[in-house]
Amino acid sequence: MNAALEARGLGKRYGSTWAIRDLTLSIPAGRVVALVGPNGAGKTTLLQLAVGLLTPNAGEPEIFGWSPRRNPTLVLARVGFLAQDRPLYRHFTVADTLRLGRELNPRWDQPMAEGRMRRLEIPLDRQVRTLSGGQQAQVALTLALAKRPELLLLDEPVVNLDPLARRQFLSEVMEAAAADGLTVVLSSHVVADLERVADYLVILASGRLQVAGDLERLLADHRWLVGPASEAGRVRGTVIQAGTGQRQCRILTRDGSAPPGWMTAPVSLEDLVLAYLGNPSAGALPAPAAIPA
Ligand code: ATP
Repeated sequence: MNAALEARGLGKRYGSTWAIRDLTLSIPAGRVVALVGPNGAGKTTLLQLAVGLLTPNAGEPEIFGWSPRRNPTLVLARVGFLAQDRPLYRHFTVADTLRLGRELNPRWDQPMAEGRMRRLEIPLDRQVRTLSGGQQAQVALTLALAKRPELLLLDEPVVNLDPLARRQFLSEVMEAAAADGLTVVLSSHVVADLERVADYLVILASGRLQVAGDLERLLADHRWLVGPASEAGRVRGTVIQAGTGQRQCRILTRDGSAPPGWMTAPVSLEDLVLAYLGNPSAGALPAPAAIPA
């Protein structure tokens, strides 16, 4: 089966600055992917390349085996994209917005779209500009879902939403993913949110792929090792982050082992993400064999 999103040597530059550089990645279908990275890491650029809104300077992304530039119709029919600024026509009513979705998308599911609006108590006759930020996010999500995509790309969809609205939005995404076997790629800075929804992690740093893989596997491969600072040199494995006090040190390792007597503790997604963000030269990439030749 084709990967939902695949790239080999993908690059995009603005002037002399590479926003995405030499990116090789294969996201399996059916996963909920957390796409993480500091500001300017290239997350939006990657998502825009995936839907063909940007033209790469190197390589070519593929969506279910199709190039968004060479086969735009095939790709766009399969992809729902929710851009960072959730573009909606502010003077349209919700009903107008759904009508536009219906006109533009052959597989549009009007009963599902109207059902979602009813369930969320968003009146169809209200102008979009009079809705709250959370309600607007839900309308935008409905537009993306009712076209019945196989891949849903969400670029910081919960930014500016309060914690309750964020939770509701993400549980709606999860429900749709579970019901329809959707692949979801969700970029966000709110790691605590991602922990509840994602089962696959991609970290970008300065336009390069730093980490990609099954989340459970990554969490199992990493651990905290805590012991006397004087023995830090005896720790084996890849050190991702190390904090050393006068007596004790605390080291986050990948595939690490410690001398006898040291304590080990599991890492959280937040630990993992913060450790990699703090150490852009560290990498935990999938085995090259994960990407077919
Ligand atoms: P954020 O978390 O802040 O949204 P991001 O990870 O989505 O950031 P991008 O928006 O993809 O990052 O930007 C990646 C790099 O490309 C940055 O250095 C950014 O300044 C640059 N860039 C993005 N869009 C443009 C543009 N239109 N013109 C010039 N440079 C750009």
